[in-house]
Amino acid sequence: MRITDLRATTVTVPLEAPLRHSNGAHWGRFVRTIVEVDTDEGITGLGEMGGGGQGAALAFAGLRPYLLGHDPFALEELRFKIANPTASLYNNRTQLLAAIEFACLDIVGKALGTPVYNLLGGKVRDRVPFASYLFFRYADAASGIGEVRTPDQLVEHALALKAAHGFTTHKLKGGVYPPAYELECYRALAAALPGDRFRHDPNCALSVEEAIRFGRAIEDLDNDYYEDPTWGLNGMRRVREAVRIPLATNTVVVNPEQLATNLRDPAVDTILLDTTFWGGIRACVKAANVCETFQQSVAVHSSGELGIQLATMLHLGAVLPALTLAADAHYHHLTDDVLTGGKLAYAGGSIAVPEGPGLGVTLDRDRLERYAELYRELGDYPYDRDPGRPDWYPLVPNERWADPGQ
Ligand SMILES: [Mg+2]
Repeated sequence: MRITDLRATTVTVPLEAPLRHSNGAHWGRFVRTIVEVDTDEGITGLGEMGGGGQGAALAFAGLRPYLLGHDPFALEELRFKIANPTASLYNNRTQLLAAIEFACLDIVGKALGTPVYNLLGGKVRDRVPFASYLFFRYADAASGIGEVRTPDQLVEHALALKAAHGFTTHKLKGGVYPPAYELECYRALAAALPGDRFRHDPNCALSVEEAIRFGRAIEDLDNDYYEDPTWGLNGMRRVREAVRIPLATNTVVVNPEQLATNLRDPAVDTILLDTTFWGGIRACVKAANVCETFQQSVAVHSSGELGIQLATMLHLGAVLPALTLAADAHYHHLTDDVLTGGKLAYAGGSIAVPEGPGLGVTLDRDRLERYAELYRELGDYPYDRDPGRPDWYPLVPNERWADPGQ
């Protein structure tokens, strides 16, 4: 089988409300680029990539000369063809590789009539549990609702998500307001949801000293982990020595070299595997196998997703034996999806692993066109800027916090 064509369509799907984070915000919508890879056997595979608020269609167009004629079964060859690690100083295509790998796995699964999880060793669970991913949010500009700023609003939002989807684990994305204020918010969550589990993620915004202060102030709660409180392996190592909560990262262990470094000189306890950041589902499975050998825990990370990327997270979560932590997903903040039938459904805090051939999801052409049109209308946005503070940008570690009173 050979790849005969490659099409990339950038779409914009609205969120319920803008999601704030330490570097800026998701401005009320996700911009994602959907990739369709055609073959000479009439099978088309689906991939997806983000881009921090920006379209990536031109980057995929640039891959055409590399991919036309390639056998989609040749996944290791694909890695060296477009993402040779020694060429990455000029051409870092890790995330592009991931999207093409998703599409090739989808093609292979469809060709063999089997779900992607069977290409990865077979599933060990039918459903993947998810955490409620809580953000501080601006109100939606049109409706004026959806703001999450105060402890009461945060608790109300978490209780509503739990009632709707069944979440029993809750992650707070912080790094927005002063640490003492976010501590008040986090403790309010824990008080309102007894018996549930929690994780805090300040997105690397805190100094080592502030990260230790915050970590010690939540040690008594039922924390899954404390995610990227500060920046860098050495900073994390210093926090880990002083705080009795497992540390997690999706920022400083995102490739095999960093994983090896972390195993030789531990700085982080839980590796959050992102099918995009690592360069594909298979790269995550490889990393998970290394982690299993060293009894280092893993979980499934979300870098923002529509249903195609979500399917990659579900197939990954399905095949990891030692997945004892709920996955993260931004998915419940979306108002719709580009899949046939709309958004995949949560039940009991989990989502069923797709059972169809390949990734097991199909594109709704009407939705794809509708959200491609919305992208053409609204365009890109700067993910690392805050729409409510136009002249603002953060330092690392940060001290330019948002005002909780506004
Ligand atoms: Mg994170």
